[in-house]
Amino acid sequence: MMEEKIEGLAFVGDTFTPRNVSIIIENGLINEITDAKKPATQWIAPAFFNAHIHIADTVGMDTKIDRPLAELVAPPDGVKHKLLRETPDTVLTHAMEDTISFMKSTGTLGFADFREGGKTGVDLLLKASDPAVRMLIFGRDGGEVVAGGFGLSSAKGTKEEEDAVSRAKKSGKLFAVHAGEVGTKDIDAAFALEPDLIIHATHFSREHIREAADRGIPIVICPRSNWLLGAAADSRHPPVREMLDAGCKVFLGTDNVMFVSPDMFAEAAFLKTIYKVDSEEILRMATGGFSLIGQKGKIETGSPANLILLDGKYPGTWTKDPLTSLFTRIGSRGITRVISP
Ligand SMILES: [Zn+2]
Repeated sequence: MMEEKIEGLAFVGDTFTPRNVSIIIENGLINEITDAKKPATQWIAPAFFNAHIHIADTVGMDTKIDRPLAELVAPPDGVKHKLLRETPDTVLTHAMEDTISFMKSTGTLGFADFREGGKTGVDLLLKASDPAVRMLIFGRDGGEVVAGGFGLSSAKGTKEEEDAVSRAKKSGKLFAVHAGEVGTKDIDAAFALEPDLIIHATHFSREHIREAADRGIPIVICPRSNWLLGAAADSRHPPVREMLDAGCKVFLGTDNVMFVSPDMFAEAAFLKTIYKVDSEEILRMATGGFSLIGQKGKIETGSPANLILLDGKYPGTWTKDPLTSLFTRIGSRGITRVISP
């Protein structure tokens, strides 16, 4: 039996309440959490789940954003897709391995990927995987058959689309779709396909938000991507506050690796600065994607031990609000170790 004891200021339970605790991990599960008497310099946070990423476009890292979004990333002829087609499989796998390793080192132990390139594309990502980092792959162009889900770039309301979605659902796959990223045109068609997950929702109206909340469809927001690619230029896009107030389930993602670093601490800091989201909500968004793979992403007894250990000595001495300081003072550079089940 593998057993380990760690101590520190941990963000515990549903509300991520900071508590000085001692945690016993047994066979990859959090077995016991007890209050510790002495104050701790080590901080313990639940690991992140990056709920939307396109990992293979790592090969186009920091490509110049010098044309409209569609010309950069829309299939089949956007700059990104040409690049993916021209890149040898071994290079794509290597790039994906590198990004998984980067995500792990910055506290992300689970992610949902939109994988292009059909079945081969999905196979390459499976080859690049790390058992410590859980993956939910949304394939397309046949890739969905060997993946956990089907990811549609954008809904156009065609019969082909509808058939592909219903085939995927019949075989038990999750269905995710980008909607409302640059405008409102594709939103109704996306809702009509009854998605399990909506990506972006940057231009959702109050009615769209109501619909997502009432139907319990989680939304993944990717704010840095929206700003970098010109889809947002103010704190009402995406309308995060309205989504949370309406009771939407909101997750955080970093989108295309070619433009945005998949560092969830950086995404969280941006959300905090621009959208003024409460720190508890931010941590809920950054960990909530674990529910897509049947986990809670919380520090609680019985949960898988997906944990980030951090050096909290400096903020720990001065902070009035440890959960906020986690994002505004520590960040990924403060990580000393990640623990996975
Ligand atoms: Zn995307």
